[in-house]
Amino acid sequence: MVESERDLRCGDLEVGCVVSQPGNARFYRTGDWRSFRPVVDRAKCIGCGVCYLLCPDMAIRRRADGTFEADLYYCKGCGICAAECFTGCIQMVPEEE
Ligand code: SF4
Ligand code: SF4
Repeated sequence: MVESERDLRCGDLEVGCVVSQPGNARFYRTGDWRSFRPVVDRAKCIGCGVCYLLCPDMAIRRRADGTFEADLYYCKGCGICAAECFTGCIQMVPEEE
């Protein structure tokens, strides 16, 4: 098992990146796979938490001010949060922007 998610190296991965133990996916920087990232317009965010509930990777976190944002270390850029946000305050933008 990898001790620190920040020190993960290629040789530390299981063959095929299989889920060998419960919770081991949190050690993998899955955000590197992303081609689009969610950007939240916090002025429009009502703090409902729908994005947090529906993100399949648990990659949404609540900020101290009650708004929500993506943890880009884990976000895979699927766009579910943007599609489900009531206020439309999440935009998916290409990674190069
Ligand atoms: S784009 Fe997908 S993985 Fe990223 S925060 Fe939104 S729902 Fe989660
Ligand atoms: S779904 Fe939209 S409005 Fe609700 S917390 Fe997430 S970003 Fe904010």
